Amino acid sequence: MHLTLDLDAIGTHHGDAMLRWSDNSNPLGYHPIPVISIKGRAGPTLLITAGTHGDEFEGPSAAMRIARSIDPEHLNGQLIILPALNAPAVRASSRVTPLDGANLNRAFPGHPQGGPTAMIADFIEAQIMPRVDAAIDLHSGGKASFFQPCTLPTRTKDPELYEKNLDLAVAFGLPLIWRLGANNDARSVNSAAERTGVPMVATELGGGGGVDPEITNQTETGLRRLMVHLGMIDGEAPSKQTKKMVEVTDPLNSLYAPAEGLFDRAVKAGQTVKAGDFAGWFHFPLESERPPLRLTCPTDGFILAHTNRGYVQRGEMLALVTSDISDDLN
Ligand SMILES: [Zn+2]
Repeated sequence: MHLTLDLDAIGTHHGDAMLRWSDNSNPLGYHPIPVISIKGRAGPTLLITAGTHGDEFEGPSAAMRIARSIDPEHLNGQLIILPALNAPAVRASSRVTPLDGANLNRAFPGHPQGGPTAMIADFIEAQIMPRVDAAIDLHSGGKASFFQPCTLPTRTKDPELYEKNLDLAVAFGLPLIWRLGANNDARSVNSAAERTGVPMVATELGGGGGVDPEITNQTETGLRRLMVHLGMIDGEAPSKQTKKMVEVTDPLNSLYAPAEGLFDRAVKAGQTVKAGDFAGWFHFPLESERPPLRLTCPTDGFILAHTNRGYVQRGEMLALVTSDISDDLN
């Protein structure tokens, strides 16, 4: 993918990655993916991506604040910021790319001659990752769900890379870490970073499809802490406030919709539960004489996310139940 800016230029520069995808709406032009480069003195390069899913807006907000406030004259190294990585999806407030219906965070390593989502993935993995020293990809629950705010390091096969990922997660400063372990998806930005040997962390920052002011402030603070950790800016020393680390040890521990119906939720993200605890009523408002189901938590655990939907289809996630692995923090 071509860039309309020079990533080697000193100073702050705004341009686009030119996503060429010919359809009825845009036959011979391109779909602009904004790229911001802020390059100062010698130092590391940090990649900040947000809008990988187009209905998650806390990350793009914090990324835009950082892009506006970092002065290249007081920066060691370079920030490459893509505040709307999946720009066609952000324009549509859509989780997936509206041009081809694909999920960018399940599209890596992608392909330079694939569909639009595959081309964006390839651009990041093949063109951008090799030139950066660290990366962060800002997610939240989007319209569909709400996540207890957390950072996501991958437990990579390379133990040294895992340590660096964990250091980035701790430096960001949220009290909760969700470690991506054996059940991680090899088609995510995290996996692209692992394949290219780049230390990386993702985030989940609430959700609901809007912008929570408190969580967005925490995100901006976290990005600054990450830059202090990497020696890029002066500032408050990264705090070590991580109190808990969780992992999805078995997808069957989570609660899914048993039928089509209305989930009258009784649990929420951030809650510790026991197997058998009441999780909510499951009503059938379209068959009003049918009695509701009483849903319970399938296992002991920590609820990392809950659905943000009311009426759901059979198989949809209602509560993401994780296991506490805080002992691995030490
Ligand atoms: Zn996401």
